[in-house]
Amino acid sequence: MLKVKDLNVYYGKIHAIKGITFEVNDGEIVTLIGANGAGKTTTLQTVSGLLRAEKGIISFQGEDISKVKPYQIPDLGIAHVPEGRQVFAEMTVYENLVMGAFIRKDKREIAQDMEMVFNYFPRLKERSKQIAGTLSGGEQQMLAIGRALMTRPKLLLLDEPSMGLAPILVDEIFSMIQTINGAGTTILLVEQNANKALRIANRGYVLETGKIKLHGTSEELLTNDEVRTAYLGG
Ligand code: ATP
Repeated sequence: MLKVKDLNVYYGKIHAIKGITFEVNDGEIVTLIGANGAGKTTTLQTVSGLLRAEKGIISFQGEDISKVKPYQIPDLGIAHVPEGRQVFAEMTVYENLVMGAFIRKDKREIAQDMEMVFNYFPRLKERSKQIAGTLSGGEQQMLAIGRALMTRPKLLLLDEPSMGLAPILVDEIFSMIQTINGAGTTILLVEQNANKALRIANRGYVLETGKIKLHGTSEELLTNDEVRTAYLGG
């Protein structure tokens, strides 16, 4: 579904992504793990057109998307849930979800998808009239994922969904990611919580200072000594 080849991204003179190659197949959950500053966020932002690659190929369903404008990305079927959620703080939960569907005109299906999101996250339904900025961190994360689902994505890019959440909420969010994937959405998950991410992913890539150091099935990575020492706490 998504193929990234020899991607190179710079911030001015800083070479943040140094020739990475990875792919996400239809139906998979693939995780990019790595320490602070490894280049995970930069990679996701480049896939969704927010940053431009200096060199490399990004193809989605066989089409080169490396020059596509960020606002055209949802039309292709890619939704990005950014780090730090970035919900529309002044709007209600319901309005945020409606905004997620702004590229669509199919009113009936939009209503069905709203119900689907409320089924995934009943808390959002209870709080549909609440101003999003007053939601808890976990609720805002649910809303950000729900808003992304309102575009009916084929590929969902998730940037650190567990960041700053209490352990019980982390489990809830990860279990929901599995449910969303089970319903047919392919997922590229960026996480610092390598253990949890690998437990729900099919495959993973370990990013270190802008390069892919290792990749394999989740099972392979979870039992790899290097990964265990550096990312799974031994
Ligand atoms: P984190 O888990 O801390 O978010 P990350 O793996 O997502 O880390 P990136 O945010 O992609 O890492 O950063 C990759 C590298 O690029 C880092 O060295 C970072 O300092 C640098 N970088 C990121 N954003 C910018 C920017 N706007 N200007 C200059 N350098 C940047």
